[in-house]
Amino acid sequence: MSRRLLDRRWPWLAGAAVIVLAFLSTVIEIRPPDEWDPRPVGSVADIEALRERDDVNVLFVVIDTLRAERLGSYGYARDTSPKLDRLAASGVRFARHLAQSSWTKSSMVSLWTGLYPARTGINRFDQVIPEEARMPAEILRAAGVQTVGLYRNGWVAPTFGFDQGFEVYKRPVGVPPSPGVRRENPTISEAGTDEATVAAALEFLRLRGHERWFLYLHLMDVHEYLFDEDSALFGVRYSDVYDNSIRWTDGVLDFLLSSLADSGQLENTLVVVTSDHGEAFGERGFEGHARKVYRETTEIPLLVFFPFRLEPGVVVESRTRNVDVWPTILDLLGLELPDTDGRSYRPEILASARGEPLPDGEEPAIAHLDQTWARPEREPLHTVAVSQGTLRYVRVAQPNGVVEQLYDASGDPRELRDRAGEDPEAVARLGATADAYLELRPDWGEAPTREISELELGHLRALGYAVP
Ligand SMILES: [Zn+2]
Repeated sequence: MSRRLLDRRWPWLAGAAVIVLAFLSTVIEIRPPDEWDPRPVGSVADIEALRERDDVNVLFVVIDTLRAERLGSYGYARDTSPKLDRLAASGVRFARHLAQSSWTKSSMVSLWTGLYPARTGINRFDQVIPEEARMPAEILRAAGVQTVGLYRNGWVAPTFGFDQGFEVYKRPVGVPPSPGVRRENPTISEAGTDEATVAAALEFLRLRGHERWFLYLHLMDVHEYLFDEDSALFGVRYSDVYDNSIRWTDGVLDFLLSSLADSGQLENTLVVVTSDHGEAFGERGFEGHARKVYRETTEIPLLVFFPFRLEPGVVVESRTRNVDVWPTILDLLGLELPDTDGRSYRPEILASARGEPLPDGEEPAIAHLDQTWARPEREPLHTVAVSQGTLRYVRVAQPNGVVEQLYDASGDPRELRDRAGEDPEAVARLGATADAYLELRPDWGEAPTREISELELGHLRALGYAVP
């Protein structure tokens, strides 16, 4: 192991990963629910009482590139996610959850800050989160919580300001996959696997888990189409291999959560699982993400599991967005993320848990991508989608003008039939929302930029991104 990778203050990060890794792939197995889940059954009153507790840890897992509809709990026919499905059945599942972009960096800034991309101003490859941003890790740290982030995606590196508030913010050592593990995304050459991330997390928890903690894990094996023989259940097409990798990642999470259960920490940990964007499989002629903001690349899961089981689990049917995630988590814990474009859905969680009806109507939800984000020589080309009810309006910018499209998921669940010509009123109404959205500007002014080193660019290219 290279000496420079060893962090003196946090030797667990580099030192233990390799040792634990030796065991991990043989230990990963799906246990029956009663064996791994020691959490007591909780009630609505227990959800409300989270605010009074001072012992609740937060495990925040971002599974990069995870499409909601590929999970069993979101209606998928294939058994891609048995562990997550079981947890969803005893926690909260947000049924209609939207990422704010289809490109990791822009989407993750919105997730952390609760601000829409137009209000972060971070749409281009060289822009950085400014110091003024209020980050959830800063708020948790100020509340006396240990804050640790382990990431494998270069777009959320400290380079771009994502380490604000974290006492430890590291890319785990890039050990190669265990024998029998395959990586099938042909554009990926980045080293490392989520096993190493989980191993480092467990070692941190072993050493420091007795003090209250917030742990952010940014997993990449789905993005990289990584899986082993046991999870190779669904075939060999690109889209099948993606499903294999979800099944594999479900097993990696099973190992992590079972370990938390074994150490007694699941009973005082709030677990949140979400993503930064989805993945396209040729629905509109292209594969991958970070190109457009249609449903395939923006409809993602959001699952919340409490330190206790809910029987039955709760489904929040309201449209929610990644800008709502941290207002909601912090509100559940009695903390606050101020001045966001999102809001807390704690009231909807409580209402759904009580079986009460949710309020009628919903705000439009925005997804946004500057399609020239990786091209410094080109003018921005903003594509914006506005989702409301079953409708999705998409405003696609092209060098010679704007194309407006309208999809209605009722009767067209894959949203492939453009009906803009049939409903000009909806196009005008949602188009006006998109126009008003594009007028928004960040409170902090223009987002700063920075020179990105060849090494950093190399990391991003290794993820398959065509950066300069
Ligand atoms: Zn991503």
